[in-house]
Amino acid sequence: MNASSKDQVARPVQVRRMDARAPGFDAELKALLAWEASQDAAIETAVTAILEQVRARGDAALIEYTQRFDRLAVSEASALELPQSALTDALGRLPVAEREALQQAADRVRAYHERQRSGSWDYTDSLGNRLGQKVTPLDRVGLYVPGGKAAYPSSVLMNAIPAKVAGVGELIMVCPTPDGVRNPMVLAAAAIAGVDRVFTVGGAQAVGALAFGTATVPAVDKIVGPGNAYVAEAKRRVFGTVGIDMIAGPSEILILCDGHTDPEWIAMDLFSQAEHDELAQSILLCPDAAFLDAVQGAINRLLPTMPRRDVIAASLQGRGALILIESLEQGCELIDRIAPEHLEISTRQPEVWAERIRHAGAMFLGPWSSESLGDYCAGPNHVLPTMRTARFSSPLGVYDFQKRSSLIQASAAGAARLGEVASVLAHGEGLQAHARSAEMRIEGARAQAQQAPDADPAHWVRPDVLAMSVYHVPDASGFIKLDAMENPYRLPEPLQQALGERLAAVAINRYPVPSYARLKQLVRERLEVPAQAEVLLGNGSDELITIMSTALARPGATVVAPAPSFVMYDVTTKLVGMRYVPVPLTTDLGLDLPAMLSAIEAHRPALVWLAYPNNPTGNAFDREHIEAILAAAPGLVVVDEAYRPFADDTFMTDLPRWPNLVVMRTVSKLGLAGVRLGYMAAAPCWITEFDKVRPPYNLSVLNEAAAEFALEHFDVLLEQTVLLRSERERLQGRLAALDGVRPFPSQANFILARVPDAPAIAAGLRSRGVLIKDVSRMSPLLAGCVRISIGTPQDNDRLLEALQAALVEVAAAGASS
Ligand code: PMP
Repeated sequence: MNASSKDQVARPVQVRRMDARAPGFDAELKALLAWEASQDAAIETAVTAILEQVRARGDAALIEYTQRFDRLAVSEASALELPQSALTDALGRLPVAEREALQQAADRVRAYHERQRSGSWDYTDSLGNRLGQKVTPLDRVGLYVPGGKAAYPSSVLMNAIPAKVAGVGELIMVCPTPDGVRNPMVLAAAAIAGVDRVFTVGGAQAVGALAFGTATVPAVDKIVGPGNAYVAEAKRRVFGTVGIDMIAGPSEILILCDGHTDPEWIAMDLFSQAEHDELAQSILLCPDAAFLDAVQGAINRLLPTMPRRDVIAASLQGRGALILIESLEQGCELIDRIAPEHLEISTRQPEVWAERIRHAGAMFLGPWSSESLGDYCAGPNHVLPTMRTARFSSPLGVYDFQKRSSLIQASAAGAARLGEVASVLAHGEGLQAHARSAEMRIEGARAQAQQAPDADPAHWVRPDVLAMSVYHVPDASGFIKLDAMENPYRLPEPLQQALGERLAAVAINRYPVPSYARLKQLVRERLEVPAQAEVLLGNGSDELITIMSTALARPGATVVAPAPSFVMYDVTTKLVGMRYVPVPLTTDLGLDLPAMLSAIEAHRPALVWLAYPNNPTGNAFDREHIEAILAAAPGLVVVDEAYRPFADDTFMTDLPRWPNLVVMRTVSKLGLAGVRLGYMAAAPCWITEFDKVRPPYNLSVLNEAAAEFALEHFDVLLEQTVLLRSERERLQGRLAALDGVRPFPSQANFILARVPDAPAIAAGLRSRGVLIKDVSRMSPLLAGCVRISIGTPQDNDRLLEALQAALVEVAAAGASS
């Protein structure tokens, strides 16, 4: 401790006391807040000269200034660049605690900023014009990082991570290393944040190099990051040639306290701003005068323990204040006038006060939320608007590294209609070319309207639909059909007769009654639907997939599902215009839970599809994995239990526990595939919305009658499933015994099996009258796999026979080639 700091400590700091009710308070507050960046003519002159030199002489000037100001003995500009290995080495050599803290902070900052990523959007107006906004990242950004005492690794994270999240093509960091001294934590932070290139230059010359480019330092599109007065001046000068983030003033904290927080916590939070520099501003607002006294007492008690006490004392004395307010309401009004960089609301029910406040860079709610958490690792950015600029600007964010382009795609009709408006305005402005250019479109559209209709689908149908291929259903007459997961059994003869009579009585001259009340009641009774859930019926569950996807297809909405899974999830998602994010299964065909959870966190999907058991793999995922997904998913999770009749478990009974769960099923695998009936159960609020999207008469009266009839004879259907389950076990054993065949476990009415050559085996079976499905091209995980539906015992024997023959054939072909 030197003599002068001893003096400081001996003399307690008396922070300015103000009373918001006193006359003259407004003027006093204005004086307290007043701060003008000192316009130093010497700095301006020096910076002008430096920028001129760097612009004109590039690397040569950069080297000279770096030699002069940083005392670096460099002769080649290339020596100013650090190799990536310098960053990774710095990271590797960091003590474990520091490395882990940096990594954790980075992870949290990244997770927060991922949510700021905003997508492009467009819409089509009533005239058929497509109008939109395309969001793109900046190509190249420069990040200024100060050297020496003000070098903060947290600033590297806070500036670099949003840029990387935005998708910036190349991030160039400049950081002076006076006398060659490098800050290993700054370099480590750059490694973690993914900085692409680092140059050991600083000052106005570094800003000039980034703005104009030199042979060595590439020109960037925007410069961000804090710096000293020379850097700030240089950024101000190059603004226009490049973008800049902001010119920050001294740091500020404003605390609104109701007098119920520990005064030492408040004092330390005021210090945490004051220790930045003498010009930092720390202000406390409180309606309790005794509490202000207590904070003043705490300040005097704690200050001597602070290594940076000189700076703190100077800041508190020069620019700090403890302000007595009439009420917390009045405090909120003052806050909006001050528009602080950091605002702590250290009160009970802080969210009530936060609701009232409009102008603050960051709000820290409640006594637990110290500003220091936000500075390092909470997740939000610590680069915040200072000097009352929070009235019109925002924290640094992903949006600062993105830009938007407008899109205008006029239709002929749209150009004609808008052309009339444009032409009037253009004539009014005396701009004839503008007017004519619009009018030519009006005339062109008229001429086109008089022509014959354009009957070429390629001009009208969506390009993605034109590129699709039709859902292929092979002709199966005369084949043993083990390719489509059907139940091989029909209803017994007498029931077929009775069904015929039932159908004959149906009034096919009338539309169906769209509530399908009786059928719904049978579904509820026979199919495990809990009383709390509501039911919606679809024309097959395929239609339910369409209904849910359509209802959830907000602009930008995303759908997550494991891959491979049922293809209609993918197809339907894309047809309704949502983004489909497939997450590969693990090699043993289970859910990759960490990958699913991170996809959910990254994309916040409106919908997650989980087929349970899964098609085409046949296995049931771990129940705990599905529960973890239900807990993490921000939107709906549909558990698709198409294969429920053959599975051991169901989520139907879990419906009351999960407000975001939908259980979807079908009667197709129960022996009623031809009836086309799917059903879903969920909380009534979801069904109300989905019902709006359902086509009014989606089930034909004949389907309805047939489904009712079948459900009245549910026991017959159940007996069939029992038979099929035991056949499944038999077939499993028989397949496993075949050389080169590896069946996977199944809880469905089909078995996935790996065979020596899936296309050849499927073709070999077909030539022997048996249809199965070659799924080997659906996913790398299914290489060599076929999917075999369970048939009658006779069907399965024929299959096994044909398979043995096909295996021999394939082996022989393999041996001869
Ligand atoms: N979900 C899954 C998992 C499926 O495998 C299928 C069809 N194979 C369906 C839904 C669609 O069933 P449906 O339209 O016949 O009700």
